[in-house]
Amino acid sequence: MSDDITFDKNFDLAPGEPEEVVPGVRRIVADNPGPFTFKGTLTYIVGHGKVAIIDPGPDDPNHIKAVLDAVRGETVTHIFVTHTHRDHSPAVPAIKAATGATVYAEGPHRVSRPLHAGEAPRMEAANDMDFRPDHALADGDVVSGDGFALEGVTTPGHTANHMAFALKGTDITFSGDHVMGWSTTIVAPPDGAMTDYMDSLNKLSRRDEQVYLPGHGGAIREATRFVAGLILHRKAREASILHRLGKGATDIATIVRAIYIGLDPRLTNAAGFSVLAHMEDLVARGEVATEGPPAINGVYRLART
Ligand SMILES: [Zn+2]
Repeated sequence: MSDDITFDKNFDLAPGEPEEVVPGVRRIVADNPGPFTFKGTLTYIVGHGKVAIIDPGPDDPNHIKAVLDAVRGETVTHIFVTHTHRDHSPAVPAIKAATGATVYAEGPHRVSRPLHAGEAPRMEAANDMDFRPDHALADGDVVSGDGFALEGVTTPGHTANHMAFALKGTDITFSGDHVMGWSTTIVAPPDGAMTDYMDSLNKLSRRDEQVYLPGHGGAIREATRFVAGLILHRKAREASILHRLGKGATDIATIVRAIYIGLDPRLTNAAGFSVLAHMEDLVARGEVATEGPPAINGVYRLART
């Protein structure tokens, strides 16, 4: 197995300028490019006249103004939020105040498992702890607007409260940060969890929608095939970790150096937490052993030798 996903790094959209990405869906990119956000966070506008906004974006006055300008003369009836990272949800209060729209999401931010002794939520600075939806959605809940209906699809893994939204009667799913075309997804405990993430990929791969509109980067076509590639990619990474442990590596830093060749140095930390996410999953499955709960500086070995 190899890391053979073809990522799409082409994405040309000027910040703040709305563009129709598929009929009936507009997108606006926030001006927050970076190693975790690619060209910036995408806000989607669904419908015409009476519309829904998906992921209002960061707390950036320019982006908020651009979104409100894009819907001038229209009524925003619904706001949907895929998850509570600070590049996706902090613009909610401003957009809600300006439009009176009702806010839907799976729930407030939370960690994916109880914290271990002495452990802090690592991604704290990245999390929007203030977010509260007006209506919490369960898996399969459908919210109908004027000319559109969105089905909430719980997809924990990147965050515990991550929810994708399928646009009913179409081939489209808003996949948030769970599935993106430009990069793999950050899965970093305790906010994220690898077991949940893999379950969520498998869940999407059983659905019919084939066009994904993600939180960052361009639309994904042939989504089922792409998701199958993501699953293989994670399984290959898991195999690499097991291989390194078999060769005598015992710590996450050594494994990161061995298996993330050519990694952007700004992502070294995130790669470490991604390996930790695999370790949690492997320990839970009895493949790997460690003292106490899996930790970023823990000592690891194969459980079956
Ligand atoms: Zn995110």
